[in-house]
Amino acid sequence: MPTTYRDLLDQTKSAIREVDAREARALIERGNVTVLDVREQDEIEQGIVSSAVHIPRGYLEMRVEETLRDRDRPIVVYCAGGVRSAFAAKSLRDLGYTDVVSLAGGFNAWKEEGGAWETPRSLTPDQRRRYSRHLLIPEVGETGQRKLLDAKVLLVGAGGLGSPAALYLAAAGVGTLGVIDADTVDDSNLQRQIIHTTDRVGMAKVESAQISIEALNPDVRVIGHQERLTKENVLDLFAHYDIILDGTDNFATRYLINDACVLLNKPNIHGSIFRFEGQATTFIAGQGPCYRCLFPTPPPPELAPSCAEAGVLGLLPGTIGLLQATEVAKLILGIGEPLVGRLLTYDALRTEFRILKLSRDQACPMCGPDAPTSLDDIEYTDVACAIPALAHAV
Ligand SMILES: [Zn+2]
Repeated sequence: MPTTYRDLLDQTKSAIREVDAREARALIERGNVTVLDVREQDEIEQGIVSSAVHIPRGYLEMRVEETLRDRDRPIVVYCAGGVRSAFAAKSLRDLGYTDVVSLAGGFNAWKEEGGAWETPRSLTPDQRRRYSRHLLIPEVGETGQRKLLDAKVLLVGAGGLGSPAALYLAAAGVGTLGVIDADTVDDSNLQRQIIHTTDRVGMAKVESAQISIEALNPDVRVIGHQERLTKENVLDLFAHYDIILDGTDNFATRYLINDACVLLNKPNIHGSIFRFEGQATTFIAGQGPCYRCLFPTPPPPELAPSCAEAGVLGLLPGTIGLLQATEVAKLILGIGEPLVGRLLTYDALRTEFRILKLSRDQACPMCGPDAPTSLDDIEYTDVACAIPALAHAV
């Protein structure tokens, strides 16, 4: 006689362990347990157990190994009523998960029991299509995409580094991009500053950047600051952003960005370029060195040729700016290892990347024990662009 659905469900339930909502709540409140929701996306939108991981039942076997790597960590699996979760629990057991229970009565019983739940803010259908390649990656997914959409990143400079960084961060769905730049688009910029176009020569760079970003992704709010970054405006400005991307080409601004980021405890994503060579690193105060740990003082002006004098290969800032943008995205998502305490150098002629380990300078004038608490007494003299010699590589 063929097996009926009823038989199959009975067999499945006898092969797994079910818990009622009260027991599930006790387990979850004790901690060290993964709560797994196997309902469909449209059901999730009505509410989800707080802290639950979501994998729709139809994708469970395909995706679970990537998402739940520890097969011995206890799992409470639930659906709406307790049937799909019973089949899911059986599958998980067959896949080698050793401690799985199914919530009898599902999410409805959970709510009646008074367990914690929340209504997730969900992506719109348009956003789900736009970011579908992100949603497929377990480390990003819908939660990660929402983090990107909620993030506020300030790009200092809409030039060689800021252009590719801004375009890719906008494409990835970073929801708020601030751009500060006092300059207008010049035709000598177009060799590398790909956010600007020939017909916008003479236009303010922040306005040109805004046009390109909004054309690329209407989800992104662009805040243009058409001004120079100064000691007077830097702290107020940075306070509104989560992460600062340094795309400047002069030492005075680099020191200013560094010092403000140390004072405000904001990540500073650093990049610099010179002819065929680039560098990138991530400064997070307290976790690694700051810019002044590496370069305590700017080089004398006669040793720092300006970009206009030295030149730069137009493709180089694309590589470095995208390394910076990738660092930004990783920090927002909380994944991977940021370039904290590591300086990445890139030699375009040899196509060679190297990593230099960097250590904190215990006597650093900005992040050491005698660090100032304001910018008032610091001089920021402008010298031109270049990559200075490393003071403190180990
Ligand atoms: Zn320092």
